[in-house]
Amino acid sequence: MAISQSNAPAISDSDKENLDVLTSTQAIILEALTRLGYDSAMYELLKEPLRILTVRFPVRMDDGSVQVFTGYRAQHNDAVGPTKGGIRLHPDVTEDEIRALSIWMSIKCGIANLPYGGGKGGIICDPRTMSFSEIERLSRAYVRAISQIVGPTKDIPAPDVFSNSQNMAWMMDEYSHIREFDSPGFITGKPLVLGGSKGRESATARGVAICIEEAAKVKNISIQGARVIIQGFGNAGSYLAKFMYDSGAKVVGISDAYGALYDSNGLNIPELLEQRDSFGTVTKLFEDTITNKELLEQECDILVPAAIENQITKDNAANVKASVIVEAANGPTTTAATKILSDKGVLIVPDVLGNSGGVIVSYFEWVQNNQGYYWSEEEIDKKLIDLMRKSFHTVYEAAHKYGVDMRLAAYMVGVRRMAESARWRGWV
Ligand code: GLU
Repeated sequence: MAISQSNAPAISDSDKENLDVLTSTQAIILEALTRLGYDSAMYELLKEPLRILTVRFPVRMDDGSVQVFTGYRAQHNDAVGPTKGGIRLHPDVTEDEIRALSIWMSIKCGIANLPYGGGKGGIICDPRTMSFSEIERLSRAYVRAISQIVGPTKDIPAPDVFSNSQNMAWMMDEYSHIREFDSPGFITGKPLVLGGSKGRESATARGVAICIEEAAKVKNISIQGARVIIQGFGNAGSYLAKFMYDSGAKVVGISDAYGALYDSNGLNIPELLEQRDSFGTVTKLFEDTITNKELLEQECDILVPAAIENQITKDNAANVKASVIVEAANGPTTTAATKILSDKGVLIVPDVLGNSGGVIVSYFEWVQNNQGYYWSEEEIDKKLIDLMRKSFHTVYEAAHKYGVDMRLAAYMVGVRRMAESARWRGWV
């Protein structure tokens, strides 16, 4: 049976832009499956996570009061293998966002050919306003609440927005207590001494940098002196700024949640990194800031959105000056903006490819935990370079073969193994 368009969201170019990440993800999944010749049963299977658990759990705060938090864990599809994906701690977390993010994880794992399906977790909270011990109790309580559905061969969490190796250490410790055996493979992004992997901390940025190199080659841009703008100065943005600065590019703009800095002569990145706090805040120290919105429209060759969703929309896409956009954040460019930019000839390396370095090195971490033998930084970096380059060129070639933009090509490449696995298992 052909895929029915009636019950599916359309990729719309009507006036009202769709900023809903779940329906826009479903639209692109539908488009990818249709072009690959799959039927409606496959779309029905893949348009939503197979499982989503909502948990509410109490946490004792430092002042003695109790606060009840809400969290989610979504498992998109486990036809390929256990599900995999980060846990974000953010006040704006919603269930639909976590659903969409779990689908994106499936696509990322598919592009890199990792033996995983996608998963994602989130807790509605603002860690910027919580103490260290409150965040510890929150992290542990969340793991107790979701422990039934996660595990090293079931669903393997990792860091995401505002969560880091310390959260992963507490979560691994809590899980090991519950299961009564040491379980390093339960979670990735751990500190090195607890079974973390060399290179994991900077892996997302490293992967973005590799994509920038490949995209620059395709576009005949020399990295030496290339003007780069990076929106966001968290884990991905800050490491990337350092990598680009060290490789001779001119990082002309950076930003955090409060504002942006732009200097056409290039910013002093080492100094900014020194001044940045653990949540990536630095612009508060300056007076001559511009807004995030203004930053995206400044002159540059390469633009890297490394913050949050829906930053480049149909309202500002035409004003973007970059000829290459590499998405380090998840979902920073809307479908309508992708079309405007692609029509202008801008090369967009989509999130599911651009930021897949994080989950790739998470996979290396999990393999090392399972085998109990650990690789050197050089070995990890070589494996990451090989896989990222291969992923980039597979998607780039698919875009040419099918005559589609890089985002749709990435979904076509990324959905395939999952769909084939589901078929072989006899699910559809
Ligand atoms: N949270 C990261 C992502 O969105 C990493 C996931 C992982 O390492 O499993 O890709």
